[in-house]
Amino acid sequence: MLKVTKFGGSSMADAGQYQKVRSILQADPARKVVIVSAAGKRDKKDHKITDLLYLSFAHSQYGVDSSRIFDLIVERHTQIRDELGVSIDVEAELTQLKHRLDEKTITQDELVSRGEYFSAKLMAAYLGFQFVDAADWIRFNLDGTVDREKSYALLKDLYDDGGIVIPGFYGTMPDGHIRTFSRGGSDITGALAAAALDADVYENWTDVSGILMADPRIVDNPQAIPEVTYDELRELSCSGAQVLHEGTIFPVREKNIPVNIRNTNA
Ligand code: ADP
Ligand code: ASP
Ligand code: MG
Repeated sequence: MLKVTKFGGSSMADAGQYQKVRSILQADPARKVVIVSAAGKRDKKDHKITDLLYLSFAHSQYGVDSSRIFDLIVERHTQIRDELGVSIDVEAELTQLKHRLDEKTITQDELVSRGEYFSAKLMAAYLGFQFVDAADWIRFNLDGTVDREKSYALLKDLYDDGGIVIPGFYGTMPDGHIRTFSRGGSDITGALAAAALDADVYENWTDVSGILMADPRIVDNPQAIPEVTYDELRELSCSGAQVLHEGTIFPVREKNIPVNIRNTNA
């Protein structure tokens, strides 16, 4: 039995959320593959790390100092690290990143992918799982689609049944450059990992208990939809239900893997 689990931004927002993730994983030994998003908002007024990374890049492009925004990115990761008590030198890698940003020697895709990268490094250290970089197995074709056959074969080789953590949202182009999916794309990374490893279920952990009849930010207390088909799910996500990225469906449908949307906070 293998369950591939993906935890979204709100599930990675602070050390308290990391603790919930660990309890969820410990509750079921079949949960051996973990895909993580960049740290999301801790509350309504907070910022997503991915948004801050895009913003730092835009600042540097227009020659505006990005140090204050970048400091928020450093603070969030060092705080999570320190509260969890794991020893990873995030400062060294972040300093190098800032340097490349200032020198304009980093692409936007590589910079914004680092939110997921740091989440995965921290989570792997916290869980005692192996870090498996998405850059080492998700292979894009030149047209921006994923070479699924090659990617699946690479992940099968990297898989370690002691538990692995994979950063969501990105992979590499044929020339080795990092490329990201569109926003919300960590869901796709999870679906690709589930398909590659022939998982029994793909669990997508977020901040709502399943697919609801309406967006809960617009309608109060909408009811959950207990079950939908892949086609209905694709239609829902294509028409704007943010809960799952539309690119998630193809890899899991092809392998007939059920998707289970779960709430990290419940
Ligand atoms: P994550 O960071 O875990 O990927 P997202 O913010 O991308 O989470 O997706 C979850 C959000 O999707 C919910 O908080 C909710 O506001 C929104 N949403 C929109 N439509 C729906 C729907 N039909 N059912 C559930 N959630 C929905
Ligand atoms: N962190 C990325 C985003 O905010 C990808 C994801 O969370 O799925 O879009
Ligand atoms: Mg999402």
